[in-house]
Amino acid sequence: MTTPNTHYADLKESYLFRRIAQKVTAYEEGDPDTHLYRMGIGDVSLPLCDAVIRALHDAVDDQADARRFHGYMPECGAPFLREAIAAYYGARGVSLDADEVFVSSGASDELGDILDLFDAHSSAMVIEPAYPAYVDANVMAGRAVVHVPAYEEEGFLPCPSDDLQADVIYLCSPNNPTGAVFGRHQLQEWVDFANRHESVILFDAAYEAFIEDDELPHSIFELEGARTCAIEICSLSKTAGFTGTRLGYTVIPAELKRCGMSLHDMWVRNRTTKTNGVSYIIQRGGAAVFTSEGQRQIHESIAVYKHNAHVLMDALDEVGVWYCGGRNAPYLWLKCPEGTSSWALFDRLLNEIQVVGTPGEGFGSCGEGYFRLSTFGDPQDTIEAARRLAQGDVFR
Ligand code: PLP
Repeated sequence: MTTPNTHYADLKESYLFRRIAQKVTAYEEGDPDTHLYRMGIGDVSLPLCDAVIRALHDAVDDQADARRFHGYMPECGAPFLREAIAAYYGARGVSLDADEVFVSSGASDELGDILDLFDAHSSAMVIEPAYPAYVDANVMAGRAVVHVPAYEEEGFLPCPSDDLQADVIYLCSPNNPTGAVFGRHQLQEWVDFANRHESVILFDAAYEAFIEDDELPHSIFELEGARTCAIEICSLSKTAGFTGTRLGYTVIPAELKRCGMSLHDMWVRNRTTKTNGVSYIIQRGGAAVFTSEGQRQIHESIAVYKHNAHVLMDALDEVGVWYCGGRNAPYLWLKCPEGTSSWALFDRLLNEIQVVGTPGEGFGSCGEGYFRLSTFGDPQDTIEAARRLAQGDVFR
């Protein structure tokens, strides 16, 4: 008899967003005419920008012309896109070789796949509350997870401690769900810690484009020593509306070695075995994001989401609800009323004011007592959701 991967039995009952979807579907079935204000799952509501759409159309036309047609793409990414991404880093003072950039189909895929680089017995440190995929990808692989709780008093950004060690360390900044962003000094402490212990940091920078304070690092490679201890995983999903189009990239520096093995070269070997590259058409669309026109246009969309954040923040201020995030990140992390669990607040918001959010408990047990609102919703819906939140009855 075939033995399945029994580690799947160790996963928590149901993936957060599936459970939310089930509750929302049940509500809609019971009350099909009511409009819901979706401030839950971090999916975008604005379409791809013009520069990207034009590049996608042109690329489709290329595929119709024998002289411009592209078959299999290079497994690690098209040179035109790898170079555009390296230049994007260069503009911020981070010097990368184009072949240190690996084009991917998105950050989620990479966060799971990248674990192939590490021994099956290696451990992973996850600072919680955290994006649920970090823990689940490791549990599925049977790896030990070191859960590190992050608390409000430390701004949800704990410092490294020699008592807590792991082979792989997940850092997410700007953070989903708390919206916290590492400052240079704090992030340098993690880089120094990882180099000292020969750990590898998986730096999830999916929300770097939302940083507006100049002094905050967008990339871990802005820090000294990161090239010998870090892998950076990025996504165009939230930056440029690619949630349904799918594109991301991962940076693995040439200097990153463990036990004499180059993680960069191992990843080349992995990609050339396990993928046949990302679609030519999508990579052309992605390259348009890094043109000056594309950058201007994606920042117009980001400005809309930032306006949503302000609308929601004003509502929470009006009713005196504690929250953080929203400024350098597209999420607001608010405190549930005393004695109300995060799933109870979810139910109350859904049933009483038809606003869908995300219970903090879904991001790890120390997320209990908090609740996430996404700023990616439709702007008109966000205004109405804010009006309903500001009435305050749900925070009684
Ligand atoms: N990392 C974080 C922190 C996220 O919040 C998300 C998506 O919400 C992802 C990665 C996944 O991004 P992608 O759409 O590129 O798979």
